[in-house]
Amino acid sequence: MTAPTTHPTPVAGLDLGGRTALVTGAAGGIGRACVLRLAAAGAKVRAVDRDAEGLDALAGQAQDLAGAVETRTLDLTDLDAAEQVAAGTDILVNNAGLQLVRPIEEFPPDVFHTVLTVMLEAPFRLIRGALPHMYGQGWGRIVNISSVHGLRASAYKSAYVAAKHGLEGLSKTAALEGAEHGVTSNCVNPGYVRTPLVERQIADQAAAHGLPEERVLVDVLLRDSALKRLLEPEEVAEAVAYLCGPQASFITGTSLPLDGGWTAH
Ligand code: NAD
Repeated sequence: MTAPTTHPTPVAGLDLGGRTALVTGAAGGIGRACVLRLAAAGAKVRAVDRDAEGLDALAGQAQDLAGAVETRTLDLTDLDAAEQVAAGTDILVNNAGLQLVRPIEEFPPDVFHTVLTVMLEAPFRLIRGALPHMYGQGWGRIVNISSVHGLRASAYKSAYVAAKHGLEGLSKTAALEGAEHGVTSNCVNPGYVRTPLVERQIADQAAAHGLPEERVLVDVLLRDSALKRLLEPEEVAEAVAYLCGPQASFITGTSLPLDGGWTAH
């Protein structure tokens, strides 16, 4: 595995004191980094995931930060509960996701349905639950963790690519509707991020192909990336934090690729 080459220094002076944020998929790699970054900036963060153990571990990690972290164990396929948990939040980070790699003719329809529910319908319901408070105070930030797969397709990822392309559309629509209420909505579009999910994929592919892990990384996963390294979760969290800060108030309806040049092709 290639060692991290980047240790992002947080944007100085970001103060989210007094703000309430909600991050879904908070027990995972990117979600956890977002929770810790927003809490470090002083926000009170509601960390939502179906993984209770992962949330407990996160709460332990977050103890010395400027803001507070409150955990909520919730399966986002419960769409009514998803909408309710978003009430009263100033910042919403739609991050929870899952992946299945399979050709369309073999792709189980029930998994397709679950992926679309968690990664598109739940964000819609979370936004719907968050907007009344955001509109009421004339300020809100919606950040949708999309992917390079919100902008480009890859074979065998039909549900994931469809959900992320849908999320792009939802995000832009929220930007148009929210503009007059001081609410911005943007996507962040990472390439491959160093999370347990991806590291497992590398190890599995290395074993399957009899290749060293570095070759799997460069020849398979990073084939279309000009920069041949994984992105760190903290780098994604930094982009999320930037979009929540005052300097980003005119940025809305956009998609910010953190893809090492993948979409430059
Ligand atoms: P991860 O698997 O580490 O984290 C995802 C989290 O979502 C997990 O904690 C999981 O428990 C949670 N989750 C899944 N289904 C849920 C449900 N029904 N209810 C509640 N929580 C649920 O993955 P990650 O890599 O941190 O991915 C986070 C987001 O970033 C996803 O939307 C993913 O598509 C996106 N992303 C990841 C990468 C990458 O390379 N890892 C690249 C681009 C985009």
